[in-house]
Amino acid sequence: PATSMEELVSLCKRRGFIFQGSEIYGGLQGFYDYGPLGVELKNNIKAAWWRSNVYERDDMEGLDSSIIMHRLVLRHSGHEATFSDPMVDNKKNNKRYRLDHLVKDQKAEVQAKVAAHMGVDPENFPALVAALNAEPAKASEALRTSGVRDAFSGEVGDWTEPKPFNMMFKTTIGPVADEESYGYLRPETAQGIFTNFKNVVDSTSRRLPFGIAQIGKAFRNEITPRNFIFRVRELEQMEIEFFCTPGTDEDWHAHWLEKRLSWWEAQGVPRSKIEILDVPKEDLAHYSKRTYDLMYDYPTLGHEEIEGIANRSDYDLGSHTKSQAELNLVASVSENNDSIAKLTIPHPETNKPVVPFVIEPSAGVDRALLAVLSEAFTKETLENGNERIVLKFKPHLAPIKVAVIPLARNKPELVELARQIKNDLQKLGLGRILLEDSGNIGKAYRRHDEVGTPYCITVDFDTLGQSNEDSDISLKDTVTVRDRDTLQQERLKISELAGWIQAKLK
Ligand code: ATP
Repeated sequence: PATSMEELVSLCKRRGFIFQGSEIYGGLQGFYDYGPLGVELKNNIKAAWWRSNVYERDDMEGLDSSIIMHRLVLRHSGHEATFSDPMVDNKKNNKRYRLDHLVKDQKAEVQAKVAAHMGVDPENFPALVAALNAEPAKASEALRTSGVRDAFSGEVGDWTEPKPFNMMFKTTIGPVADEESYGYLRPETAQGIFTNFKNVVDSTSRRLPFGIAQIGKAFRNEITPRNFIFRVRELEQMEIEFFCTPGTDEDWHAHWLEKRLSWWEAQGVPRSKIEILDVPKEDLAHYSKRTYDLMYDYPTLGHEEIEGIANRSDYDLGSHTKSQAELNLVASVSENNDSIAKLTIPHPETNKPVVPFVIEPSAGVDRALLAVLSEAFTKETLENGNERIVLKFKPHLAPIKVAVIPLARNKPELVELARQIKNDLQKLGLGRILLEDSGNIGKAYRRHDEVGTPYCITVDFDTLGQSNEDSDISLKDTVTVRDRDTLQQERLKISELAGWIQAKLK
């Protein structure tokens, strides 16, 4: 695995996985572009998630809902009121900071001073953040008297009181920009699932329990985007809302925790690198009955959230439904006089309308990609003493499945045959097969190690049956296949290639 974020950032740029967004105009903070290899890796991760959570189950449906949503959706979901982080301004340099990030970035002794001022245990970081949020005036005093600095410039700040900052991106819809014409870019894909609950039930005749899965972009105006693609302002999520009968929710919660951990394992992210945080009651989001955060051990960052698996009770459908009063909701929801739909489903035993409970496994695609990259990253010393970097992706995630390399680029017969092999393999539908005719075989191998291509096929003069007098004519119509991980090369007949590759990449 990778030992630092820097080596991943550098490989991603060098080989075309990830670039800074709007880079040629100086870059835009919190936005990244996925390059030729990044787009393949990302698509493969999303496809693996979809396969496992939709196709391989009998109790799931898919959805692709719109990104811009009616402001009432985000009002009744609770996001307008609560989707915010406390921020503080530094009056000296006019920069804005997310309070918990600012405190986390301080040296231990400074953190201890802040904690002492607030009267909490410095070891208990969540309690410290909670105390700072609860008492804004005392918090700014604590920051000031403890000498809290900007982690990057080193400058001691003159801090304002923490204020909540809503992270939703707003936009105007249509030609007239007035008080009523705005909507939001969704801050999570989940709300599109809840607002389509009735449409999906009516069109598929689903009964409890069943789930709806969605992959798509979400937008959060993070105050301090950082750590490469770990915290970005335009992100992608893979979310499931699994609807079940109240009372069965705890079993389903356990089921999904197990399922999700084994999915991560199958992507090369082992359980031993994921800590399960059973979020303490006092830190739970307002909608949550219980939440497991999966904390992956990222290089440089340490354990940070890669996925949250929440029991959201009947909060969401209960918030978006009409006739709330007659539905015996468990969650405490705000009054909704705007919704025109009753979001109930027959109870499987009594047939009476019930608002189901929801289990939500929610994973970030960007954080998944970072973890997959980090686990695949390997530095090896070869027998000849040379060092190589190799990305040991699981084959189904590799951006390029096979590179077909003509030994010399200036020999039309070699190039033509390589192209033909490439075209035939491409038809198998395994993903990207690349014709690699850059000419230098050593460089090609090094490049494909570094981007994690499982197999390199080389077409040489023996393949054409025209090496030299003492060449082995029995090698005609064979190619060498080099294995990324073992570096073993074997000679295979061209006619056997398709079956061989298919079996290996299954
Ligand atoms: P954090 O505490 O790290 O800000 P969160 O608790 O707000 O994350 P959720 O609202 O639970 O995150 O979102 C579900 C998932 O979406 C997260 O587990 C993460 O993988 C992903 N995610 C959330 N915010 C971001 C972001 N700014 N950049 C990249 N991925 C994100």
